[in-house]
Amino acid sequence: MRLKTFKGGIHPNDSKELTKNVPVVPHIPTETIIIPMRQHIGAPCEPVVQIGDEVLMGQKIGDSEAFVSAPVHSSVSGTVVDIKMYPHPGGGESKCVVIQNDFNDTLYPDIKPWNLDVSSKNIKNFVANIQSKEIVDKVREAGIVGMGGAAFPLHVKLTPPKDNPIDTVILNGAECEPYLTSDHRAMLENPLQIVIGSLLIKKAVGASRIVIAIENNKPDAIKVLQEVSSDFEEVEIGILKTKYPQGSEKQIINAVTGRQVPSGGLPSAVGVLVSNVDTASSVAKAVVMNLPLIERNVTVSGDAVMNPSNFKVRTGVTFASLFEAAGGFKVEPKKIIMGGPMMGIPQVTLNVPVIKGVSGVLAFSEPETFGKEEGICIKCGKCVDACPMRLMPNALSMFAENSDVEKLKKYHVLDCMECGSCSFICPQRRFMVQHIKKAKALVKNS
Ligand code: SF4
Ligand code: SF4
Repeated sequence: MRLKTFKGGIHPNDSKELTKNVPVVPHIPTETIIIPMRQHIGAPCEPVVQIGDEVLMGQKIGDSEAFVSAPVHSSVSGTVVDIKMYPHPGGGESKCVVIQNDFNDTLYPDIKPWNLDVSSKNIKNFVANIQSKEIVDKVREAGIVGMGGAAFPLHVKLTPPKDNPIDTVILNGAECEPYLTSDHRAMLENPLQIVIGSLLIKKAVGASRIVIAIENNKPDAIKVLQEVSSDFEEVEIGILKTKYPQGSEKQIINAVTGRQVPSGGLPSAVGVLVSNVDTASSVAKAVVMNLPLIERNVTVSGDAVMNPSNFKVRTGVTFASLFEAAGGFKVEPKKIIMGGPMMGIPQVTLNVPVIKGVSGVLAFSEPETFGKEEGICIKCGKCVDACPMRLMPNALSMFAENSDVEKLKKYHVLDCMECGSCSFICPQRRFMVQHIKKAKALVKNS
């Protein structure tokens, strides 16, 4: 069978064997829960509770009137003990609601148990009888954002511009970043919720086709989803070649549909909506149970971790508590990353809270990190072949060093998605992504 893929890309060692066969277990929430008001792309929320308030698990504690935003909810029941600025895993600080956990997990009354009979006939009836607007409203109220890392509010994607109708929903199960296996486990452990979520997303946008796209290094997940979706004729399983960054939005759209999202454009410009597989599972829970996004799968891995694990984690617990639950460190970590090693965000402290977009936290000893001095470009062209956006990273890096704004614009520096493929492949260990990040800031400020 011909595998779907895109031009360019790289083949890093995926190191997924550390956790791919490790089932997800619940992480026990800690006594103090820190819920940031900024957990998504768009306007941050403002607290809707005050110090001293009692809150229930799943109760809304922050919201915003901005369209591009998503409410945040308490992941435990307890008492609001503080509202203050706190370090944020995405960088800088965010206003946070601090909750003293009462360990009762008393649910907010709107949240119901899963009461949907899971026969395919019943699921089809349920999806046929629900209104699109109700799905969008429930997704918004549940604060659902893209859980693959981007954290874009899903209700915004579910209301695309009228002149860009969506015909295809792609569920992104590529999980192409090394080490991460949280989506892989979600596909193995909650496949039916993922399929139900995909049907609801399709209904919300009026699409005709669903493709659950999975890299061929996850044959068990492909098999499970093929079986579970076999009664739903609109659902296809798309098998992707294992290659980084196959899970990036533009690359997965190109691989599955052959369409090219234009420079600076959104997937809706080519009639596609892309959603992460675990996000789809959250959509099913939001619509069926009114359950907000207050917990998610997180991979805890890296060569410095004693027992690499997959946990079901409440938002607001610290990274430190995740590493502790994974047995602590076997060697002193020199680098901590939120997300994958290619596009993740380095952390300066373990005392930052888990937010909705955290798919993994990784800890590395010195030898696995890039830290050597960069050499001069020998014009081998490997970075050009690897760039999935068909850019010229070597030239961009040179223009960046010379602060040549006109050339940077001419060579489309803003199309760079900072995937790191060029830095990875470069034999001279050029710090291309750092140069290009600087260059993008230069262009944006020019
Ligand atoms: S970081 Fe940017 S320039 Fe480098 S390979 Fe990725 S998209 Fe291309
Ligand atoms: S891979 Fe490195 S050495 Fe080769 S052309 Fe690109 S920047 Fe230059």
